[in-house]
Amino acid sequence: MKRTPIAIVAHGGAGGINFPQRRKNGLMKAASIGYGMLAQGASSIDAVEKAVMILEDVTIFNAGTGSSLNFMGEAEMDAALMTSELQFGGVGAITHVRNPIRVARLVMEKTDHLLLCGEGAIHFARHMGIKYYNPRTDEKKRLWKRMRKKLQSRYFRKLRELVEHYGTIGVVAIDTNGLITAGTSSGGITLRLPGRVGDTPLIGTGTYADEHGGVSATGHGEEIMRAMVAFRVVSLMARYPAQRAGKIVVDYATKYGCQCGLIGIDKKGRIACANNTKAMSWCSIKDGQMKLFDMKN
Ligand code: ASP
Repeated sequence: MKRTPIAIVAHGGAGGINFPQRRKNGLMKAASIGYGMLAQGASSIDAVEKAVMILEDVTIFNAGTGSSLNFMGEAEMDAALMTSELQFGGVGAITHVRNPIRVARLVMEKTDHLLLCGEGAIHFARHMGIKYYNPRTDEKKRLWKRMRKKLQSRYFRKLRELVEHYGTIGVVAIDTNGLITAGTSSGGITLRLPGRVGDTPLIGTGTYADEHGGVSATGHGEEIMRAMVAFRVVSLMARYPAQRAGKIVVDYATKYGCQCGLIGIDKKGRIACANNTKAMSWCSIKDGQMKLFDMKN
C-alpha cells in the first residue's frame, strides 16, 4: 500500500499567549505523542483523539479541565472530530466529563447521529461508561468572578468586548494511509449564556475535513459560524496549498470582523497555520521536524 508522509499540527487557541511555557509544553507533548503514534502506523483518528485528550487535560487551555465558565459558572463544553472520509461526531454544551473529544468520537462511531447536546450528550456518555468528572479549576473560577463583575447588567453588548480569551484547542493529522482527521475541543466563551453551543462542534464551522484536507478553527464562535471558516478553508484546499487557503479565509474573516485562527493539513500533507488575532499558540511536526509558535508574542 502507498504510504503518505505523516504530519500533525496542534493549536492552543488564538486569544494571545499568556503563560507561553505552559502552552508550549502542552502543545509539544500533544504533537509529539500524536506524531509518534502516526509513525507507528496508527490512524489519524487515534492520533488526533489522543493529542486532543492531552490538551484537554492541560489546565491552561480552554478545553476539558480548565474550561471557561458560562454565565452561571458552569463548564459546558463542545468538541468534535471529522475525517477526510466524512465521518463526524460532536458534542455540544456537555458537562461533567473529563474528555469531551472521547464522547464526540463515540457519537461518531456508535450512533447514527452527528451531534448530541446538553443532557442527552451526558446521558449518552454515561451509557458508554464515561464517568462523572468536574472540569472546573480554581484558576478559571477566579477569572469568572473577575469578569462577571465587569459584566453588570449590560450582558450582550459587554460580552463582545470581554471575549479575548480564546483558548480552544485543536489538532489535525494525516496518517500513512492519507486519512486526515481534524479534532477541536472548547470550553466556549467565558460568561456565555447557558445552553450556548459554539462553532467547535458545528460541522463546517469550527471543524471540517474532506478529501482535500482538514481544519480546526478557534476564535469568536458566533463570527466563525457566520463565516463558515473550516469548510471554506477545506474547499479552497482543492485549488490551493493549505497555507494559501488558510490565509485567504483569514483575510475574508477579517473583512467581516471575525476574530479567528485556524490550523489545517491538505491531502499532500502541507500545513496551514493562520490567524488575525494578537497571537495563536501552535506546534507542528512534519518529516520529523517540529515547529513552534513565536514565544515572544
Ligand atoms: N471558538 C470558541 C467558541 O466560540 C472559543 C475559542 O476558540 O476559544 O466557543
